Amino acid sequence: QPDPTLRPDPLPEDADRSLRPQALEDFIGQAEARANLKVFIQSARQRGEAMDHTLFHGPPGLGKTTLAQIMSKELGVGFRMTSGPVLAKAGDLAAILTNLERNDVLFIDEIHRLNPVVEEVLYPAMEDFELDLVIGEGPAARTVRIELQPFTLVGATTRLGLLTTPLRDRFGIPTRLQFYTVEELHEIVTRNAVRMGAPADSEGACEIARRSRGTPRIAGRLLRRVVDFAVVEGDGKITKALADDALTRLGVDNLGLDGADRRYLRLIAEAYQGGPVGIETISAALSESRDALEEVIEPFLLQQGLIQRTPRGRMLAQGGWRHLGLAPPKAAGQ
Ligand code: ADP
Repeated sequence: QPDPTLRPDPLPEDADRSLRPQALEDFIGQAEARANLKVFIQSARQRGEAMDHTLFHGPPGLGKTTLAQIMSKELGVGFRMTSGPVLAKAGDLAAILTNLERNDVLFIDEIHRLNPVVEEVLYPAMEDFELDLVIGEGPAARTVRIELQPFTLVGATTRLGLLTTPLRDRFGIPTRLQFYTVEELHEIVTRNAVRMGAPADSEGACEIARRSRGTPRIAGRLLRRVVDFAVVEGDGKITKALADDALTRLGVDNLGLDGADRRYLRLIAEAYQGGPVGIETISAALSESRDALEEVIEPFLLQQGLIQRTPRGRMLAQGGWRHLGLAPPKAAGQ
């Protein structure tokens, strides 16, 4: 019987799982993280021990889940996957922990959304591979201690700031993932296009790479759509003209911004003369959750210098005005 707290397969877009890199050697980008992981993996293997607990943080779609899976493969151990929000009760986590085999990797996605009660169970498990379970209720309640197999917890979060300090401190290997360069995404797109049977010429791959917001997941999504156009309206090959036409029709502009990004920028420009404007106000005006704005939309806009975060709220930066083709108001203070 499948356990509902374990997600069998990570993401729907992975219908084509052959596109997910399977080894550290095939993983493009994140050079620094990769070089460090390589050493830690090899050391754990040589010592025959569980690798230290690892925390991946950074915007969605940069490869946190992929790296966790690669770690288990390279360590030669099992992989279990769950996520913060689905672990409702302490017992849910206890059931998973007691079923781990020696040195397994347990991946917890969205670990910043763990219930505090569940998080308490995790501390001794991470630290001493022990579980303290309360059996019974009231005066008859007693605690039993269960020894666990050593394991590696790999946590992933898009919001490092929402992690409690005690949890954060228990990760020996905190790793920040960065947005990918256009060159790295170019390589990923070129490889995947071949695997999908619709080869891209260099300029075609570049066009998709440039407009993928530094994110392999988005590159994959855009590539799939461009392949559709190439198959139906072209000759099955991806060229710059075809990619440009397809992406423009999908509402992805030359920086890779989509409708939601542009609505965000235009709101600050037009309704608030460039800001500053509070995140709650933006959230209400756009009917987008604050979390979605902070996790998905803002990181890339910040990285591109289109907006700024100030103590008084968000402001449109020079680049943002330029991208919208608007002139900043004189008193904008920029
Ligand atoms: P996250 O867990 O950070 O949200 P994932 O690991 O699920 O991201 O990756 C999202 C998608 O991007 C997956 O389909 C994965 O195959 C692809 N991907 C991520 N990193 C890379 C990479 N370095 N090279 C190729 N594909 C990648």
